[in-house]
Formats: sequence, structure tokens, C-alpha cells
Amino acid sequence: MVQNGSVLKTQWVVIYARVSSKEQEVEGFSIPAQLELLRDYASKQGMKAVQEFVDIESASTSGRTGFGQMLAFLKKNRTKCHTILVEKTDRLYRNVPDYATVDELGVTIHFVKDGTVLSPDSKSSEQFIHGIKVLMARNYSQNLGEEVRKGMLQKAKSGLYPSNAPAGYRNVEGPDGRRIIVPDRDAPTIARMFEEFGTGRYSLKTLAAKAKGDGWTIGGRGLHSSTLHLILRRRIYTGDFDWGGVIYEGKHEALVSRETWEGVQALFDRRAETKQHRIKHDFAYTGFIRCGHCGCGLVGELKKQKYVYYHCTGYRGKCEEPYTREEIVQDQFAAALKELVIPPGILKWLQESVCESDLNEQAARDKEVKRLEEQQRRLGSKLDVLYDDRLEGRISPEMYDRKAQECQKQATAVARRIEETRASTPAPVESAIDLMELTSRAADLFSIQPPHEKQAFLRLILKSASWRHGELQTQFEEPFENLRLSNRLSRSKHGANGAGTAQNQIWYARVDSNHRPFAPEANALSN
Ligand SMILES: [Zn+2]
Repeated sequence: MVQNGSVLKTQWVVIYARVSSKEQEVEGFSIPAQLELLRDYASKQGMKAVQEFVDIESASTSGRTGFGQMLAFLKKNRTKCHTILVEKTDRLYRNVPDYATVDELGVTIHFVKDGTVLSPDSKSSEQFIHGIKVLMARNYSQNLGEEVRKGMLQKAKSGLYPSNAPAGYRNVEGPDGRRIIVPDRDAPTIARMFEEFGTGRYSLKTLAAKAKGDGWTIGGRGLHSSTLHLILRRRIYTGDFDWGGVIYEGKHEALVSRETWEGVQALFDRRAETKQHRIKHDFAYTGFIRCGHCGCGLVGELKKQKYVYYHCTGYRGKCEEPYTREEIVQDQFAAALKELVIPPGILKWLQESVCESDLNEQAARDKEVKRLEEQQRRLGSKLDVLYDDRLEGRISPEMYDRKAQECQKQATAVARRIEETRASTPAPVESAIDLMELTSRAADLFSIQPPHEKQAFLRLILKSASWRHGELQTQFEEPFENLRLSNRLSRSKHGANGAGTAQNQIWYARVDSNHRPFAPEANALSN
């Protein structure tokens, strides 16, 4: 290439397109459609697309060769080319490591369909919102599972048990074609077990023994006390049922009365209460931490009846890790969780920015639709002209057929893209912010929660934790690990610019210069 002035002024870019084999079946997602859009964009912006990288993924091959080649190319040509054109977020990243890798390159990315450009100079707010979008792209497939759950919820609301029939019932097709449950031949046995247990004369064990002696079976098999327990706890036999933490009034036939059922539950609860009194101390972190030396669990132990210490069980031989006070373990958990905390003022502002960003994307889509409609009109008039030419004998019938067919093909492609652009809805970013808000609050209040609340929160978010040389290492479940990474990225990006260490001040400075000013909340700045 001749390196004269005009060539140097042309911006070099690379194009990236990706499709999964499943999406390939849907025409609008195809690689040619993506490439066409991106080439078109490049030429309109006066950019030179120096390379195109493509990935077609199948379920069996997860590696992305095109993606890797693109990164290598950008690294090698750092001085000449530092811009990527891609359709939208979920085409470029499949996960957070992808995001981190691209972010490290410090390139500018044009998300053509979203109408957004992200560069290393972008405001931290933009970076942050972008991070959320990556998070949502990743969770998008999980949302599909959500849809299924929604369908089941609809069913539950109409009084139909949405899942497989439990013992004592079987699934049949109801009068309107929907799957319902009806009592099966084990139903009388179940009713009888409730009656017997309700007398209070049996424990689970003795009732199971009696069942065995009397030859009662469920599904043709004898009864264990654990099965018995499960059955006697299920509300469904009263005609009502639990679904997603809510009690629904079912339309199916009850096997026992509500009174009988309640009586049985009361018996269980009373027995559980007396049992709980025997538990002496609740060690909040037992079961959550592995020893970093030998992989055994860390367990709590009470010393001098008031100090709680954690230590390696040492099941794999004597371990070098010393005993640690619970307060120290707790402080380190709290510090890790602080990485999930976003000051409330910032959350509020993010909420507003997200709305704005959604509006911008909507505007970009509207503009794209307009442009495509214009293209459609031009193709229409071109066809008219061709027809006239043919009638007037200016072109041969063969020529007309060929040209007309070409036009039709283009028109179909344009129509498809209009439809697709109209259908593409923004990622549900607001729900991500709600999630962040909840997480943030829970993480902030962690230290002052009672042990069982701490455990519930850790069970939700903690993937793994290890303890070595007095230091805690944690990994969170997604999307929490993702949120931590987003936080870290936006922090590190502005940590070195001399604006002080408080990330919030940077946030607020940005808010003030770019958006309507508002008074920072006191607690947001003291963090
Ligand atoms: Zn150990």
C-alpha cells in the first residue's frame, strides 16, 4: 500500500462477525448479513476495512479462531489499526474474560447496530453501562429459561400443578388438552399415612416400620422414613400446592383434609423445635472455606466458651495453617463483598443513564429502519425503470429477467433486515441494575447480619473460597463475579489519573460535567 497523506488519513478498521450454528438457522443472524452491515457502515464512515474475521461456532467446537486471530492482528498492528466494527455486544463477547481481553487492548469499538462507540477515552459511566450490557448478553440465554418458568407460573395461577405428578397422583390430559393430575391407586395409602401419623402415636421410623409390617407400598415399593417425611410435608395432598414460594388453590382432588394436614405439620414443627435447642453454637463460615494448603474444610470451634476460631480439619495430615479468630475471617469476607457495593447515589444515576442509553439505541434503530425503507423505495423505482426499458425494447428479455431477479433478491434482503431491526429489543438492563442494587445492599450490610443470613447470602453468591497464610481468596457465582469485574475495571481505569482514590468522586465529577447536577448523598462519599 502506498503510504501517501490521503491513505494515512483513512482510518483502518477490522470487521468481526460471529454466529452460532443454532443462530445460523435463522436467516437474519447469518454471517453475510452481519458482514454486509459492517462493510456498509465502514464505507459510509470513510473507513478502510483492512481485515475481516469470522467465527461460526458449533456446540462441539467452542474455540474462536477468528477472534484470536483478530486480537493477534490488532496487537501486531497496534500503531496502524485500533478499531473494531461489530454488529452488537453479544457478537463480540461471549463471556467476561472476552470482555477483559478486548478491554486490555485499548481499542475503539463501534457497535454498529446499537449505535454506540466505545473507546479508551469513553467516560467511566459509559464503560460501566457497557459492562452491564456484557453481563446481560451473557444472561440472555438464561432469560429464555425464565420464559419457560413464566409459562409454568401461568399454569400454577390457573390452579393446575405445573410439574410432574407427585406420589399418589398421575398425569392425564384434561378436557381442554392441558396436563392435569388425578389420584392414582396409591392415593388411599397416602391418606392413611396422614391419618396414622396425625394421631401423634408414631415417629417417622415407627410409622415406616408399621407400613412395612402391614405391607403398604407406594409405586409398588416399600416405604422409607425419608420418603414418608417428604410425603407428609407436601401441601399438594390438601388440594392446594406450593409453587415458587406461593400457595395456590389447586383444581385437583384432595387426598386429605386441610385440618389433618395442618395437624401433621404442627407435630413436625414441635419436634423440630425441641431438636434445635440442642444446637449449641452457629458457626457462620463452616462449610464455605477450603484450606489453601491441603484442600480440607475450615471449621469453627468454640474456645473458652466465648471465642470462635476457625481451623483446617487436618483430615489429610497435620496442616500448617494456624487457628484464626472468626472476626478476622469475617473482616476478609466483608472486604471481598465490598467490591460488590455501588454507592446508592451512583445507582440512582445509573438508572437514569440507562434509560437515556436505551432511548439512544431506540433512536439508532429508528434511523436504521428509515434508511432501509429508503433503500426499499429506490429498489422499487429501479424495478419500474427496468420494466419500462424492457417494454421500450432498450434491454433484452433475458437481461431484464437477470436484473429484475437481482433487484428482487436485494429487496427481500432489505425487507428482512427491516423486520430484524424492528424486532431487536434492547437488553433488559434495568433488571440488571435492580439486581446490582439488591446485591449492593446485602453486601454492605453483611457484617451486621445474623449467622443464618450471612450463610444464606454466601450460599447465593459464593462459588468458592479458600484460606491460606491468613488470607481469604474468593470467587463469586455469576453474575456477581461479573459485577466485581465491572467495578474493578471502572476503578482501575480512573485510579491512575490523579483524581484521588475515591472512585465515587470520579463518578460524581462525570455526573456533574455531563448530566444535570445533584447533591451527592453523604453515605455515598464516605465509602
Ligand atoms: Zn489444611
